[in-house]
Amino acid sequence: GREELAQLLHQMSGGSYPRYKDLIGKWGLMDATTLFFDRIQSDPYAPPSRARLRVELSSSGFDTDLYSSRIRQTAFCDFLTRKFWRVTHDAHMDRTTGGGGWSGPKGGNLNIDKPSQHVLERTSCLIVDDCFIEMRFTVNLPARGRTIQGQEAASILTERLPNVVAEVLFAQSEDSQKLLQHVTSIEDQEFTRNVSLGEHGLVAFVCNGAVLPRSSGADDEPMDESAAVPFESPESLFCEIELPSGKKVQGMGIKPGISLIVGGGFHGKSTLLAALEVGIYNHIPGDGREFVCLNKTGVSIRAEDGRSITGVNISPFINNLPFGKKTTSFCTPDASGSTSQAANIIEALEAGAKVLLTDEDLAATNFMMRDQRMQQLVPSSKEPITPMIQRIRSLYEEEGVSSILVIGGAGDYFEVSDLVVMMDCYKPRDVTNEAKSIASSFPSGLKLSDSPSDIFKTNKKRLIASDSVQRIAKSGRGKISVRVKGTIEFGSTEIDLSAMSQIVETSQTRAIAVALESIAGMSVLDRDGIGACVRKLMSEVDATNLDAMNSRGERQGNYARPRAIEIHGALSRLRGVDLSR
Ligand code: ADP
Ligand code: MG
Repeated sequence: GREELAQLLHQMSGGSYPRYKDLIGKWGLMDATTLFFDRIQSDPYAPPSRARLRVELSSSGFDTDLYSSRIRQTAFCDFLTRKFWRVTHDAHMDRTTGGGGWSGPKGGNLNIDKPSQHVLERTSCLIVDDCFIEMRFTVNLPARGRTIQGQEAASILTERLPNVVAEVLFAQSEDSQKLLQHVTSIEDQEFTRNVSLGEHGLVAFVCNGAVLPRSSGADDEPMDESAAVPFESPESLFCEIELPSGKKVQGMGIKPGISLIVGGGFHGKSTLLAALEVGIYNHIPGDGREFVCLNKTGVSIRAEDGRSITGVNISPFINNLPFGKKTTSFCTPDASGSTSQAANIIEALEAGAKVLLTDEDLAATNFMMRDQRMQQLVPSSKEPITPMIQRIRSLYEEEGVSSILVIGGAGDYFEVSDLVVMMDCYKPRDVTNEAKSIASSFPSGLKLSDSPSDIFKTNKKRLIASDSVQRIAKSGRGKISVRVKGTIEFGSTEIDLSAMSQIVETSQTRAIAVALESIAGMSVLDRDGIGACVRKLMSEVDATNLDAMNSRGERQGNYARPRAIEIHGALSRLRGVDLSR
């Protein structure tokens, strides 16, 4: 128990640091609460030691309704993780929970994976075996030089930690209302995305009153309320959604098809699109983007020159490359703007995307369109690129894939669009009719040619050689790690994910990294392709929890759930992979 643990720590005091390894194992910390040490740091400067707490749900005092479904569990655990983080990082709370005032400036010796504004399934907190809350965190075990400071360690683990546990992992009447609101809001948001969008025939919804702009480019918290203009739907796009909680939300519904967001520079176009991109996630109450929902298969598409491409059929967009390089199974270690954008689209389709989002700011201009004058100067036979404007309708009509585009300059798109929304001082206006009448009074002269049918039907299954992925994974001493959100070190190579803007937490990148390793070990990769293997892995995660991402069976506390689409995207960007034959 707790006394035993305290005693051991006092005995260790003054001993050499590796003696801390005796902590490995399990300790009854307090009533209904077990503390586990899984890994002990080898010295005070190494990454901190990994620990877990298990609290019996039946003793925790939380209402069973708070965790009675998967999405409620996600929301419940998210709330507890945030609270654990606050309690261990807030100087004031630290004092009230017995921090003793000596804990370090970086938030002390207890730490947990810090969540973003989004509510994701994470391994920092899980419900296990339907009867425990498991919280995974790290402890920096104190030392003077390399000598164990047993008193301090005992104070962290047997005084401070129990206070944190009592505060976070047992129901508190003062925040029970907030916890219930958190769970209810997340469940309502999830329902809106997964059920209401479909029922109302929409691909996206933006709630009235939403605060879309962020406080800065580096800070994802909402812009100050006094500065932000709240979202307000145009009348023609108004829609009301009834939520499971009985509440109703009103806002702008976007139907399937081709939707343009137009408007002057600085009027809020990119801000709206960026909010839609992360509309695949639920957000914490107060974020401002609650009930900004996008079809869960929505993918942000941009140009990404320099990326690696392996075996992608980009021929719907790119043909007749100089020197006869074929584009039905295109490979390059260094793609151009337009070929990378084409590959991003084809891979998104392969991964099941039904909505594509593109901001003209981040697109390759020659990929988006070619105007009449350029069509005349450079004959189509000399131009490898068939621009997006030529294919966007068949993408929708034949594949059911909608597009939402921010367009500031290319009015030719009026001709192929179903909806034109103009952002005017941060307020949307439906200008579809005006745009259509302009398109007919001022013909662009653009020749739109019909796409051959079935043009997107080929090559939905790319077969990758699993041994090549394993070889890469094992190269460079087999290190698989993540330091920043956008980069995975995979063996001796690096995978750059920075163009995938829908990865919102470094912990998702970590989960993607171990997922790639697990997928490399699937022999069916050669036969069934990337999509099938990613689906297989995700169905294991659905049947159990996020630990299933990691084939090494470790219980890490710093994974967050990525979509299958992002795992697919990461594997597609891996350099040096072979196609299986
Ligand atoms: P655009 O893409 O049309 O050029 P942006 O979306 O980049 O414009 O927005 C320009 C600026 O306006 C940004 O600094 C953004 O934070 C701010 N902004 C966007 N939407 C709002 C809003 N609803 N209220 C207040 N400021 C906003
Ligand atoms: Mg912009």
